[in-house]
Amino acid sequence: MIWPLLTLCCAALLAVTAWRAFRREEALREQLRQAQLELAGIRVERHSALTEEQTKQQTVFNSLVEGLLILDEHGKIQFANPTLEKLFAVKGDIRGLSLSAALSSFALQEIAEETLRTGRVTGFELSLPGHGEQILQINATTFRDPDRAHAGTVFVFHDLTRVKQLENLRKEFVANVSHELRTPLTLIKGYVETLLDGAKDDPAVATRFLQTIERHADRLTFLIEDLLTISRLESGQVLMNFQVLDLHTLAAEVINDLSSRSEERKVALVNEVPPDFPVRADGDRFQQVLFNLVDNAIKYGRAGGSVRVGARRKSAEFIEGWVADDGPGIPPEAGERVFERFYRVDRARSRDAGGTGLGLSIVKHIVQAHGGEVRLESEPGKGATFFYTLPVGVESPAEG
Ligand code: ADP
Repeated sequence: MIWPLLTLCCAALLAVTAWRAFRREEALREQLRQAQLELAGIRVERHSALTEEQTKQQTVFNSLVEGLLILDEHGKIQFANPTLEKLFAVKGDIRGLSLSAALSSFALQEIAEETLRTGRVTGFELSLPGHGEQILQINATTFRDPDRAHAGTVFVFHDLTRVKQLENLRKEFVANVSHELRTPLTLIKGYVETLLDGAKDDPAVATRFLQTIERHADRLTFLIEDLLTISRLESGQVLMNFQVLDLHTLAAEVINDLSSRSEERKVALVNEVPPDFPVRADGDRFQQVLFNLVDNAIKYGRAGGSVRVGARRKSAEFIEGWVADDGPGIPPEAGERVFERFYRVDRARSRDAGGTGLGLSIVKHIVQAHGGEVRLESEPGKGATFFYTLPVGVESPAEG
């Protein structure tokens, strides 16, 4: 009787143990599954974080104003950003090509070799042949990843063309200003010395010399005034006081101010601006524009000729005004340059006429500060016409 009971108890015990073992295994399996799932999740996250990082890098490289070029350890192009492709006018995919094959630059090849030898090249200036006056500054360095998986050379190309142009303009400007200041000063000193050496004892000669000294001193004053005006306009220090003004009245005032000069050269000044012609302008500044243009037309136009000041409506927003003379005009090759500082077609004539070489440059700056443009039309022998545009004068509600 006891044996069947014992057998039953043992069987029940075995069944409970087996059940517990089965549950434990189930739990372990579940934990394993969870762990596998978590691992897979981490992998996906790491992968997407990596591609996100790569996309960010790519976006940064693509938006750089500097050209960027990466060579692999065999000297083959691994990456070139769009700025570099533009700088070197590259067409098509250059990845996998050598420097000389892709960019056909011997100098660049030399920089790459130098970088490999020394580890770094900085501030190398390269002027690109066949690209106008384009000058690039190159910095290059070799690199090796911390895991030593990748090695190569990175080149950064900075376009220095504009900086160089500005530097040259500044040098030229300083040289021009020094020259313009020195010329009248030398003359003044010469006349003073001659006076002191005895010329002062002859009243007629002394008067003539003193008048010449006064003329050159005036020229120095005009030059300094014009230089200050240009410098204020260029640095944006001039606050424009825009108002609705009548261009006909402005032209009449300038013609009146210049009447004695025009009489000296027997030049007829004609105001052809239609009456009641509203423009949006700074009165004092714009008077200077008309003054410089009409003054030039009298100085360089035909003695005994005529100067016409006119205007017409160009569009809904702009008017076009002009000052036209019937003098010798300006040769086509000088047409683009007359608005440059210190440019003169006839240096001696400008100097005799008391010119500073800055008048048209001031005109251009003031017109541009009004949102307008200047241009010249001239046929040698048939006079010169200087055109400018200005915004139409419309009262804004705030101005009543
Ligand atoms: P400047 O002080 O010499 O007059 P501007 O800048 O006013 O300087 O003019 C530049 C040059 O353009 C002048 O030196 C002159 O040679 C030329 N020029 C300007 N206006 C006229 C014109 N109406 N006809 C012929 N040449 C002109």
